Amino acid sequence: MAEILNGKELAKKIRTNLKVEVEELKKQKKYPKLAVIMVGNDQASSIYVKNKSKACDEIGIDFEEYLLPEETAMQELLSLITKLNEEKEIKGILLQSPIPAHLDIQKAFETINPKKDVDGFHPISVGQACIGQDTFIPCTPLGIVRLLEEYKIPIEGKNVVILGRSNIVGKPLMQCMLKKNATVTICHSKTRNIQEITKQADILIVAIGKPKFITEEMVKENAVVIDVGMNRLENGKLCGDIDFEGVEKKVSYITPVPGGVGPMTIAMLMQNVVKATKME
Ligand code: NAP
Repeated sequence: MAEILNGKELAKKIRTNLKVEVEELKKQKKYPKLAVIMVGNDQASSIYVKNKSKACDEIGIDFEEYLLPEETAMQELLSLITKLNEEKEIKGILLQSPIPAHLDIQKAFETINPKKDVDGFHPISVGQACIGQDTFIPCTPLGIVRLLEEYKIPIEGKNVVILGRSNIVGKPLMQCMLKKNATVTICHSKTRNIQEITKQADILIVAIGKPKFITEEMVKENAVVIDVGMNRLENGKLCGDIDFEGVEKKVSYITPVPGGVGPMTIAMLMQNVVKATKME
């Protein structure tokens, strides 16, 4: 039976430490403040934003929410970002995705001041991560690395297989794993014989958004498996991309959904806001 990688517990520990750090920063008259922009009213996004607001509240980070209507024009969105770039008190800016299809999300990310890019999606942050420089790393990959470190799971020299090549999870995670000296394979929807590849993984990380896609036959004995997927089933329950019950019997470590990667993502966002505050 696998050991559970308890992201919920670790995230709580990180938030507690950050709270102390924020108190120290405030003594130096440095006040962390996060601005979150949401366009439209995507239901899942509303829940994520609420959770981010709660975490800020707990740690002592000021939080400002900008809710823009679905029909917002690109120029209005860019004007808001520019205004927030100029506001000295705002230390971090986050644009909640998805945004409506008529808006150019990449252009919006590029407009965020890289010094306030706490999500790590600005091309400058992406480029710096690519050449191994210190920068803002996207929160989900950062959280996964932190979780592996906490449980002292070696990464160097291991075969890491990542399913999913999105800009927010798969690709930045690949950079993080390379930096940790892993041998990395990245798979996507056009990858052939995926099971042959997943079975080679010492560490398998799945971020594709397909409920229970990874089954027992697809994993190596004693592998470490990380489930990034967050899928809402018809019965309202949250489910990952890994068939937890089947896979758990065969592997050495596994993340649950919920309570694994999700809470770590938010904790790392808080860490990035504190980092931005220290940088000014
Ligand atoms: P995304 O942008 O939709 O990307 C999905 C990726 O999965 C794509 O690269 C796609 O390949 C690949 N894919 C789809 N079907 C596949 C298949 N059958 N075999 C192999 N690869 C396949 O998704 P995302 O934003 O990265 O999110 C992925 C999942 O993680 C979602 O469930 C999301 O809710 C969750 N998520 C969780 C957190 C968290 O904090 N826990 C954070 C972010 C995302 P192509 O590139 O070829 O299309």
